[in-house]
Amino acid sequence: MYQFTTPFQNPSGSPIRELFKYVNLPGMISFAGGYPASDLFDTQGLEAAAARAYQTPTRCLQYGPTDGLPELKRELLALMGRRGIACSNDELVITTGSQQGLDLLLRIFVATGDTVLTEQPAYPATLQAFNLAQARIVTVPVDDAGLDVAELSKLLDSGVMDAPKLLYTVPTFANPTGATLSRERRVALLELAVKYKFVIVEDDPYGDLRFAGERMPSIFELAADVEGSRGWVVHFSSLSKIVAPGLRVGWMVAPAEIARRCVVAKQTVDLCTTPWTQATAVEYLVDGALERHLPRIASKYGVKSQALCSELRLQFGDAIDFHEPEGGMFVWARIGGIDAATLLTCAIENKVMFVPGKAFFSDKVDPFALRLSFAAPGVDDIKEGVRRLKRAYDEARSVHELTVQS
Ligand code: PMP
Repeated sequence: MYQFTTPFQNPSGSPIRELFKYVNLPGMISFAGGYPASDLFDTQGLEAAAARAYQTPTRCLQYGPTDGLPELKRELLALMGRRGIACSNDELVITTGSQQGLDLLLRIFVATGDTVLTEQPAYPATLQAFNLAQARIVTVPVDDAGLDVAELSKLLDSGVMDAPKLLYTVPTFANPTGATLSRERRVALLELAVKYKFVIVEDDPYGDLRFAGERMPSIFELAADVEGSRGWVVHFSSLSKIVAPGLRVGWMVAPAEIARRCVVAKQTVDLCTTPWTQATAVEYLVDGALERHLPRIASKYGVKSQALCSELRLQFGDAIDFHEPEGGMFVWARIGGIDAATLLTCAIENKVMFVPGKAFFSDKVDPFALRLSFAAPGVDDIKEGVRRLKRAYDEARSVHELTVQS
């Protein structure tokens, strides 16, 4: 009856959001969501920042400029400077979460049938956005050092696909793999972008959540070392994982020509990001609260990550394979002998959850992979959750073996 557009004739929703109905079952321990720990929110700092923001009510209540409140842009330019990213005011656009940055970028770059590259496994909302944009998705594999840039180089040299417009990657503490792209690969990737003229979309919501290892410069920062590459990187960041996702404050740093077009696209999406939360973010940043908060949460996430990894080793031994992350919120694991979707059914019965790897693939699904987030549960729950997961694993294996025998 209705004349929906092609991608909305039969759309499938987010595979992770579909799992949410189980997350709130009483007693459930969830490693599923990519949510920050709510008990680590700086509620007092944000309450004080919100109160200071509201001392100038019209700044909160009135429409704001589409590219963001000037005071917040000033604070974010300084923050990016501290992260090694030098950019100008016309290269910075405040977005309603970094998720919106991707939507805007697709609006200005990608038409039906255009080729886009993504690392795989990938953040599912990016795959969903690419699918809704009716892009041709070409995937590049990932290993413990992030995107396999040598594979990408072969793929580009082979000429098997149309020239890609974008390449999407989460190079630091990736969602879902937790992996961090090595410096050599970052430089090699920039060289490929210059040679093949595609935009690297560097999605970086987790970079500040480092709890081990050495600082890694962002791809955007390294563009200063690779001739001609500065114009080929768009960098997304966000307050969601380091302050609170409810603020819905993210931003993009992009060449001015790109940023200007994204602002035009944003005019028809939401006119502006909520000035009230932008003003709260200004007060929070001006006060230096983020600098005080970050080390606290990063070290807490480090403790949680360690609890998860050591308990996984203890319970599963050789039956599990994973790489311990140096930051972020995720552990990507492969469990031998049972596919992750079957394991999830048994896991839910045992009151523990994770996300089966399938959600992160556009093709060539790895059925044995799963994503575990250590961010939200406490340390005791993390350990108990892994014990439950092992029970579920044993049950799933025995059912599986009985089925194979009969
Ligand atoms: N990119 C990645 C890799 C994410 O994991 C998330 C949140 N799960 C986002 C973007 C979206 O973040 P925001 O809340 O800033 O829109």
